Amino acid sequence: MKFNKKLDNIKTYEAGKPIELVVREFGIEPKDIIKLASNENPYGCSQKVQDAVSAIIPKMALYPDDSMIKLKDALSARFDVGNENVIIGSGSDQVIEFLIHAKADSNSKILMNSVTFAMYEIYAKHVGAEVIRTASQEHDLGEFYEIYKEQKPEIIFLCTPNNPTGDAIDSKELFDFVKKIDNDTLVVVDGAYMEYAKAKEASKNIVVKELIEQNSNVIYLGTFSKAYGLGGMRVGYGIADEKIIKELYKLRPPFNITTLSLEAATVALSDEEFVKKSITLNFEEMKRYEEFANKQKIDIINSYTNFVTLCLNSNQNSTKISNLLLQKGMIVRDLSGYGMNAIRVTVGTKEQNSHFFKLMTQFL
Ligand SMILES: *Cc1c(COP(=O)(O)O)cnc(C)c1O
Repeated sequence: MKFNKKLDNIKTYEAGKPIELVVREFGIEPKDIIKLASNENPYGCSQKVQDAVSAIIPKMALYPDDSMIKLKDALSARFDVGNENVIIGSGSDQVIEFLIHAKADSNSKILMNSVTFAMYEIYAKHVGAEVIRTASQEHDLGEFYEIYKEQKPEIIFLCTPNNPTGDAIDSKELFDFVKKIDNDTLVVVDGAYMEYAKAKEASKNIVVKELIEQNSNVIYLGTFSKAYGLGGMRVGYGIADEKIIKELYKLRPPFNITTLSLEAATVALSDEEFVKKSITLNFEEMKRYEEFANKQKIDIINSYTNFVTLCLNSNQNSTKISNLLLQKGMIVRDLSGYGMNAIRVTVGTKEQNSHFFKLMTQFL
């Protein structure tokens, strides 16, 4: 059977290896498995969220509120924008899908960083768009601008902080860059880890209201999957000028967010204490990764997120080391597929991290 040719050169996205598969492949008990591969919140999610979701389970027979009014109100209050500036997706992944389908086709060019979130390229290929990447590993906005002038891409992706490297763009630099891009190019600012970045360094914080009010060609993306601890609920959002949101809405399937997910995200926004605590613990534990890397003489990228990227030395192989860890039930992300001899490790709880250091000391 023949399929859409555009799918021929798409590599299926590999999420962090699910615990369930490690149980099956290695016969390790679930309780002995530690997953530090998908940047999930190791402290779970807010108790208030759990209580609220339990309370609405009986409503499962009804379709969700497709206006999503409560969550939209909460998000627009948080960012001080209007409800008409917000679209909610099944993860911000789905918003990425909408915006690529809305803006690009097989004649389009999409510009992104050399190393960045894998889904941008996958959705770009859905529509047959050409993917252009920078040469530098960290977002170099000077280089972005040079390529932009030459190629006039339909879409530019800026991921700050960047996944899988953890570095972040300076907010002022980003605003200056966006100002120079003309209105035909859509600029996407993916802030999946922004809650962490702004807690670590105010100069990395993107004020979303100013970003979208000053630039009608920019969309900001956020998610509940990381700092809010709701990866399993699949809720993300895009914030932009109303004209952009209206176009994206044409692609949205009805009821794309479940009743339970809507409730979870709405309540999560009201429990800032939980998020604050998670972030404080995250950076406390990250210090231990920095000390560990120092001691082992391996490079660690300064991270504004809840993960660290350890760049191994040439006599250490990231694929081999990830596999050794996996056999012991420790799941991390091998970055060899990104052309890096590095592993990305989600900063876990104190116990999880200690266990990681112990195994790594044996393997390095
Ligand atoms: C995790 C992540 C997302 C999307 O997460 P969803 O679970 O789909 O909301 C988007 N961008 C980056 C950079 C991420 O790391």
